Amino acid sequence: MNTWLLNIQQQLSRQILASKLPHALLFAGVPNAGQEKLADWLINVLLCQALHQENVGHEQLIIQPCGQCKTCKLFLSSSYPDHLSIISDKSTIGVDAIRKLSQFFEKTAHIGQAKTALVNHADQMTISAANALLKTLEEPTSNSFIILTTDRSDLLLPTIISRCQRIEVRPPVGEKLLAEFNKQGDDAFVNLTHLNELTDEGAAVAYNEFRAQVVQYLSAYQCRAEVLVTLAGHTDSFRWLEKVLVDLMREQSGWKIAASDSTLNKQQLWQIYSLAQAANTKLKTLVQVNRQFLSEKLLADICFAIQNSGQK
Ligand SMILES: [Zn+2]
Repeated sequence: MNTWLLNIQQQLSRQILASKLPHALLFAGVPNAGQEKLADWLINVLLCQALHQENVGHEQLIIQPCGQCKTCKLFLSSSYPDHLSIISDKSTIGVDAIRKLSQFFEKTAHIGQAKTALVNHADQMTISAANALLKTLEEPTSNSFIILTTDRSDLLLPTIISRCQRIEVRPPVGEKLLAEFNKQGDDAFVNLTHLNELTDEGAAVAYNEFRAQVVQYLSAYQCRAEVLVTLAGHTDSFRWLEKVLVDLMREQSGWKIAASDSTLNKQQLWQIYSLAQAANTKLKTLVQVNRQFLSEKLLADICFAIQNSGQK
């Protein structure tokens, strides 16, 4: 578990031991903050028949599932009958899925433990789905728990949020976060990723927009004006550009399966990345640097790099 999730686990463990866990919980945070991991842990804890307590120091405890009992084994193999996961593969969660959830809670439990349901990306619920869920939240059946996760809690109906215990999952920022990932040895490129755009919603939106524009620019010379505006005007833009390029390189080397329109080869990407890095260094080390000029020059250099190697 990521260290920033431990406090939340402790808090929830205390609630469970005191039988004060509410019927509905919402784990909210920026993308990949760990809300899904927490939900998974909590559901397993609620179902396990042989819980144990893990001492995490300073008289703090975290309850852990055993992983061995019948219900744990069923849950871990995704065949536990008293749990229902709603994970949409489309961009919306429709009313049918939520009706299924309501019906699921109306039936008696097969095994006699708690019944649990998970709605991942609850923000993807349509209005009618959200209204259907609202009814289930208002009339809880006994020993049943609904866990919602979201990375866009601003898109959730306030009435849904107000019926849940809302838990904000906040990863550390900057250096602390890097230390965290290095400790876990996640991957070699991580030192360029996961900064403010991971912890700030506005920045995340701006970053994704910028990323799409850069990809457009690199593959089809479109969006030059938009890229330039961001490069020249946004504090983080040069670092973002490096990050986008690292992502593209990573996709090409098969580290991550993701669709990208990039038609550039590895050498080109590497060359563009080096240009971006050099420009970023200039920006950071020179006292008087004209950001607008630097941005324009960088785009011209990138354009030149693409065209030149394309002619070979
Ligand atoms: Zn167990």
